[in-house]
Amino acid sequence: SIVVLGSTNMDLVAYVPRAPALGETVTGRSFRTVPGGKGANQAVAAARAGGEVSFIGAVGTDDFGERLRANLEHCAVDTDLLRTAEGASGTAHVVVDDEGGNAIVVIPGANGTVTSLDHGDEALIGTADALLLQLELPLSVVVEGAATARRLGVRTVLTPAPARPLPPELLATTDLLVPNEHEAAALTGLTDPREAALALLRDVPEVVVTLGAAGSLYAVRGADPVMVPAPRVRAVDTTAAGDTFVGALAVALGEGRPAPEALAWAQAAAALSVQREGASTSMPFRTEIEAAFGS
Ligand code: ADP
Repeated sequence: SIVVLGSTNMDLVAYVPRAPALGETVTGRSFRTVPGGKGANQAVAAARAGGEVSFIGAVGTDDFGERLRANLEHCAVDTDLLRTAEGASGTAHVVVDDEGGNAIVVIPGANGTVTSLDHGDEALIGTADALLLQLELPLSVVVEGAATARRLGVRTVLTPAPARPLPPELLATTDLLVPNEHEAAALTGLTDPREAALALLRDVPEVVVTLGAAGSLYAVRGADPVMVPAPRVRAVDTTAAGDTFVGALAVALGEGRPAPEALAWAQAAAALSVQREGASTSMPFRTEIEAAFGS
C-alpha cells in the first residue's frame, strides 16, 4: 500500500484574456473550483492507477474542507488520518490567460497546521510499501515523515516541489527523488538534467528527473542514467502531469516492476492525463493505463 503525507488545496481558477497588473482589474471569461494540492493529486493518481492509498494531511472547517475530503473519499483514498483543522482549507488562486500562461498564489491554510506526526500516522506509515512526500506541508513534518519511514524500512519518494533548498537530513532519508528539470537545476545549479541527476546521486541512491514531453531520466548509483522517452501525444493541459507520473510510478514500483519499466508505465499514465483538461479529473484509471502501455 501507499501512504501520501502531503497537501490538499482547493484550486480557484480564473480564466482571463490576460493577467491583471497590480492595481488593475480585468474581466475574466470563466471560473471554476478544482480539488488540488500536490499531495492529494499524487494520492488520487496512485489510487486510480490501482494502488491502495491512504492520505495524511489536513483540511479546514470551511466548505472547501468538506469538498476536499469528499473528493479524496470519492477517489477511493483512505482519509481516516486526514485531520480537520479549525480555519480555512488550503487554497491556490490561479489566473490562466489565453496563451495558457498562469500566475498562482498558494495559501497553505490547514496544510500549515500539519507540523508533526502522531502515533496513528506512524503505525500507518509502518504498514506501507512507500511514503510519498512533497514540499507543500511544513518542512518539519516532511523531515519527520521521511525519517519515520526510513526507520520503519519503508521506501520514501520525495517530489522536491515547490523548489527550495533541501535540508541534509531530508536528503539522507530519501530513497527516490523525483524533481522535474527545473527543480533538478534549482537543487544542483546544473541545467543539464544528466549532470544534475549524477550530482543528486551523491545525496540519494535513486533519482528520476522528469522532462515534460521528452520523458524522464532514470539514474541509480553505479550505472549510466537511462533516458525513457514519453509517448508522443497531443497535450491540451499538462497540469499535474508530474503528480500523475509520481502516483503511477509508486504503484508500479510497489508491484515489483523494474525501474525503467515502471517509468514507462508511469509515463503512459501521465501521457493520458495531459491529453485531457483538468488536474485530478484528468488522471487515468488502471485499465486505461494498461491499454495504453500494452499498445
Ligand atoms: P511537472 O508537471 O512536475 O512539471 P513534467 O512536465 O516533467 O513535470 O511532466 C511529468 C511527466 O509527464 C513527464 O515525465 C512525461 O512522462 C509526462 N508529460 C508531461 N508533458 C507531456 C507531454 N506534452 N507529452 C507526453 N507526456 C508528457
